[in-house]
Amino acid sequence: MQGQRVLLRVDFNVPLSDGKIVDDSRIRAAVPTIKALLDGGASVVIMSHLGRPDGRVVDGLRLRPAAERLTQLIRVNVPTTGDALGVGTDDAVRRLRPGELLLLENVRFHAGEERNDPAFAERLASYGDVFVNDAFGAAHRAHASTVGVAAYLPSYVGLLMEQEVEALSNLLEKPARPFAAIVGGGKVSGKVAVLEALIKKVDLLILGGGVANTFLVASGRSVGKSLYESKMVDDARRILKLAQDRGVRVLRPVDGVVAKEVTRGTEFKVVSTDKLPASWHMVDLGPASITAIREALAPIKTILWNGPLGVFEIPSFAVATRELAKVAAEKADAGATVVVGGGDSIAALRQLGIAEKMTHLSTGGGASLEFLEGRDLPGLAVVPTAGSPYETLPIVYVAPVKPGGKAAPKRAAAKPKPIIKPSALDDEDDDESDPLA
Ligand code: ADP
Ligand code: MG
Repeated sequence: MQGQRVLLRVDFNVPLSDGKIVDDSRIRAAVPTIKALLDGGASVVIMSHLGRPDGRVVDGLRLRPAAERLTQLIRVNVPTTGDALGVGTDDAVRRLRPGELLLLENVRFHAGEERNDPAFAERLASYGDVFVNDAFGAAHRAHASTVGVAAYLPSYVGLLMEQEVEALSNLLEKPARPFAAIVGGGKVSGKVAVLEALIKKVDLLILGGGVANTFLVASGRSVGKSLYESKMVDDARRILKLAQDRGVRVLRPVDGVVAKEVTRGTEFKVVSTDKLPASWHMVDLGPASITAIREALAPIKTILWNGPLGVFEIPSFAVATRELAKVAAEKADAGATVVVGGGDSIAALRQLGIAEKMTHLSTGGGASLEFLEGRDLPGLAVVPTAGSPYETLPIVYVAPVKPGGKAAPKRAAAKPKPIIKPSALDDEDDDESDPLA
């Protein structure tokens, strides 16, 4: 790394409120790679997106707050550029010395980013001698800064990417059994594919949140005014049938907390899911369901959890999510593997201060789900797997000469670790439809 200019893609797409970072998990997660590069004597040009500016400059989506947070975390000043490209940026990059870093402004301010425009990618690539992709949360996107630049530079993955891939592939390939998936959150749509893939892997599926409501409808209950998706009922039925055929136990809520309105301070009560009242909303699981979950998890050795069990943003309806978080922490303490994915689920754990107890917190929302579905993520697929026993992916490094005429450095002789393993799951079309990210 000594003396190399590293173009590093990270995922600093953090939730902001009034210009303040609400949850800095993704910035923290990028620190090990950034430190390793700086300590190794590289100069680092960091790229990230933030939000969806759709190719225009949006002042509220500038990366300065992320740079300030990173500065605090690594205690090295992190300057930002006013634009990802341009004369000022060219100049700032040229002046970087070993051990120094720079954060390019939000790459999505350029329309070329999401279009994966080769000209835009080539300009970005001119800022580095090598490309390191550590943006797991954006790995399911084939954009200029995640995929396009890999056509011009020798490409590697970072430590976070490696850790994510390892944790998630272990779940798919060699989970300690029994293995349980807990799926909650608002909607089934966007989770159908992962539910289908998981049914083929797990011994137990626990349903909660709005997702469970759709499954309750699929098994003939009426859910009153609760959130559920009528269009997904057939899919839910298909998943239940698949579970039955494979002998996978599915735990649906037996009781729930119903509320007059989905707001703070509203009237609420516990009822059986056999008689959910017509004009109420089910907003949390009830005590009998929580007990059933606790019991079902007792023998479990591997847990994958995505999606809160209720409307946890309202404290009265966060009980089941909180209880499950406690059980998950106890299980992890006792040696079980507990992997939690999903922004809201992790936010719930952070509220409780027990996030760090889990074996692995996945920083990718849509990316984690697509990985678990068994799809190849474009941001991983562009990193050559030469030397791996699974040479299934094309080597995309095509440009021996960098823009500007300087010869690109030779690919390192050391063979990269095989990090993309052939999925044991069914092949699926690698389309770009993902409602989650
Ligand atoms: P994650 O971000 O962890 O993947 P999701 O985004 O899928 O989770 O779902 C989180 C959202 O689901 C939360 O905003 C929560 O309020 C909502 N939710 C959970 N249970 C219910 C429910 N019973 N009714 C309506 N919304 C729910
Ligand atoms: Mg969410």
